[in-house]
This record gives sequence, C-alpha cells and structure tokens, in this order.
Amino acid sequence: MTEASRRIHFVSLGCPKNRVDSEILLGHLMDADFSVTPDPEQAEIIVINTCGFIEDAKKESVDTILEMAGYKSAGSCQRLIVAGCLVQRYAKELEAEIPEIDVLLGNGEYDSIADVARRATQELSGHRVSVKDPVFLHSATTPRVNTFMPHSAYVKISEGCDQKCTFCIIPKLRGLQRSRPIADLVREAETLAERGVVELNLVAQDLTGYGYDQEGKVRLADLLRALGGVSGVEWIRLHYLYPRPFSKALLSALAEEPKIVPYIDMPLQHIADPVLKRMARGRPRSFIEKLLGDIRRHVPGVVMRSSFIVGFPGETDEDFQSLVDFVSAEDFERVGVFRYSREEGTPSHDLSDQIAPELIEERYHTLMELLRDKSQEKMERYVGRKLEVLVDGVSEESELLLEGRHKGQAPEVDGTVYLGNAVDFPEVGAGDIVEVEITEAYDYDLSGEMTQVLKKAPMRPSHARLEASAAARLSRGEPSSGAQPRPTLRVLS
Ligand code: SF4
Repeated sequence: MTEASRRIHFVSLGCPKNRVDSEILLGHLMDADFSVTPDPEQAEIIVINTCGFIEDAKKESVDTILEMAGYKSAGSCQRLIVAGCLVQRYAKELEAEIPEIDVLLGNGEYDSIADVARRATQELSGHRVSVKDPVFLHSATTPRVNTFMPHSAYVKISEGCDQKCTFCIIPKLRGLQRSRPIADLVREAETLAERGVVELNLVAQDLTGYGYDQEGKVRLADLLRALGGVSGVEWIRLHYLYPRPFSKALLSALAEEPKIVPYIDMPLQHIADPVLKRMARGRPRSFIEKLLGDIRRHVPGVVMRSSFIVGFPGETDEDFQSLVDFVSAEDFERVGVFRYSREEGTPSHDLSDQIAPELIEERYHTLMELLRDKSQEKMERYVGRKLEVLVDGVSEESELLLEGRHKGQAPEVDGTVYLGNAVDFPEVGAGDIVEVEITEAYDYDLSGEMTQVLKKAPMRPSHARLEASAAARLSRGEPSSGAQPRPTLRVLS
C-alpha cells in the first residue's frame, strides 16, 4: 500500500501557535504523500495535535482523543497518533489510560511525523512514546500547509519562553525561547505573499522578547522593519507582546511602519501589585501604566487587546476591585478574561490562599458583565466612520453578504465587519482591501457599506458574482458575537 492511499484525519486543538505546529505536521505528512480526509470514518490514521495549557484545554484534548479512539474501536481507523502539549506533559498517563493510542509524540519531534505515521501503519501493535526535550524550531523551508484563510497566515517568530510566570506551564512544555533569524522570517513572509497572503499575524509566547536569545538584545523592531519591506504583504499584526520595556526603535517602528496595523495584543494578566508579584510578572503596575501611555502616545488610535486572570491565589477583594477599576478606566478595545487554573507543576499550584472556585466564578462574571457593557459603547464609536477593511470572503451569516475585518480586528478572536452592499461590488472578494462606511454597531461586530476598493488581492479564485436582486441588509441582532476564540480546528483536505 502506498502512502497516497493512506488517508489521515487530522484534528488540531489549542491556540494559533499550535495551529502553526499542526500546519507543519500536515506539511510533512502531505510531502510524504499521505492524503487528508475530513471524515474520520474514512481515515486509516487519525492524528490529534493536543493542547495541555489549562484545565479546559486538557479536558477538550482528552475528550477529543476518546472520541477519536471510538473510530479505532469501531474498526474504521487502524492507528491513532496523539501529538502536542498534552503529550509533552502527560505521556505516561495517556499511555496507561488510553490503550487505543498507538503513538505519543511530544513537541520536540514534529519533523518525524511522516516516518512515525508510516511505521505506525506497518507495526502490528504496541505503544510508542517519543517525548524529548522541546528543542524543535521550524524554518521557512519546513513543509507547511496553510489551513487558514488563503489571504491570511500566522507566522511563529519564536518558540518557547524565558519568562517565569508562576501560573504558567508553557516554558516546561515548550522550552526556553528560540527565535528564528530575521532573514528566515522574511523568506517565509515572501513565500506566503507569493501564495496570496496579504495579512501576517505574528505570534510567539513573548513577541517583545524576540531575538534576545540570539544576540542578547531584543530585535522585534528590526524584524518589523524587515517584514514591512516584503512586497505583497499589506497588514502585519502583533500577538502576545509581553509587557517588558519597549525600546524607542520599537515604538518608532509601530508608529511609522505603514504595514503594521495599530493593534497591540498584550496579555497583562492582572494589575494589582501584590498579585503581579505573586505571578512573578516582573514589573509593577506603575511600569504597565507608563508603557500603555507610551504606546498610546506613539500610536494614536491604537486598538489594545489584553487578557486577565481572575482568582489567582491570594487575590483579595481589594486586588480584584483594582482590576475592575483598571479595566473600567483603561481604554481597552478588547479584553479576554480567564479563570485561574491551578496547574500541577507550576509554582502557583503550591501557593497559599487558593481562591474558592465559586468566588473565581463570581469574579469572572463580574468582569465579563462590565466588559459586555463597555464593548457595545466602544463599538458605537465606529458608526459613521470610514474604515479600511480586509475582506475575508462570503459571510457565514448569509451568502449574500461579505465579511471582513478592519485593522483593529484580529482574525478568530475579534469581531467582524459585515458588508451589506456586496451586490454593488461584485468584483470584490477575499483578500481585497476596501473602504467601508460603518452604519451599525453590535456587541462585538459592525456592519457597513463599501464605498470604494482600495487594493485588489494579488491573486485568488474568482469570486462568485452576487445576484442583483439579493441586496442584503443586516438587521440588529443578527450577527454572531465573534468575540470568542474558536479553539478547535478540524483540518479538512
Ligand atoms: S510570558 Fe508568562 S504566561 Fe506567557 S508563556 Fe511565558 S511564562 Fe507563560
């Protein structure tokens, strides 16, 4: 049997960084002539790339493994391969508890997946566990399948993390920071642009620390300037900037480089000094406030996204109130809230004064309610404005609508702009950048009318023309929230 006849069903879980890993695993498999099927019943091998960050993610990973193990028990699939962070963390337990798993592959061995899959189909039975130190770092020449929208891609600029946040297991699962060279990232960006990608979403555990492991100095500003020179790339978006000092060069790059969208995704985790200290975040509230001020001064109109943890051990009512007041006062456009997850193997697991789950829940809902009210208020500000919008394609809400995002909306985690007059612009499609006059605001989404095409996508499959009779208008309440991340990706062929 050739690999071409061996069909793989692939499930990717977790964050965009894990999506990049999944794309690399898929790239290796497809280079080795395996084919991919969206139907697990048609697959001979099922591969699951897991997440093992916090309780909810672990549960989703285990549930998915059990669901996929069912296909093996039922006899439709021959082999089950489980990879990723959950394996890196719990290989022994998975091996002992889920006998249907044939191979457990840690984070360090993604380039061996094709070999592993080939051998798994040849061996009659038996578990194989391969978990080494996570030193893997891909490059521009690593095989990769872009599973995202054809005009947008994640680019992982470094792997691992040197920070020591006490709640976080990531450095243990992913190792210390390894930054990819600037030339290699430029090459990847050029390759993506040649394939029609116009938006680069830079991701890393600690984007701000990019380069420090290579030359003892951070080089994010140099990288941004270099990526800004890549022809075909129009928007560059930054995710997960750790709040460490921003150099003048970085602030200038953010302010001056036209392709960098004015959008900063900076997880702050908390604001009360006693909590920041117990989290070992390294910098106090005064530093954070100054940094936010510097960013806003240099990048007027910047859209700020952040995330916070409620219920960290020792968080007093007063600490929580400081967080509520801070979030109320600061002009964050988007905020994610996470309940503290007590993770074994992290220093905060053993801290005193763990907070009762009911209180964590209560604080979570208090903050979420506040944010809902603020979100609607912020969205109203856009009504009447003209914005540049990158078209993502035909809307999931209706095939008569197009949808896209303005510069302050990241894919997957933020809202959408619905384009009601698609019929007037039949030539417009995914990857085009258009000017849109915003007419309505919802909790997380906007809708508006296109006024002109600003930039045509360099390439894309032809866009189906919309029927003139089907002029679509969006009514209040129709759009989906678009506010929550969609963590699960079932990769289709
Ligand atoms: S910066 Fe902190 S929270 Fe983020 S990955 Fe590193 S250790 Fe974890």
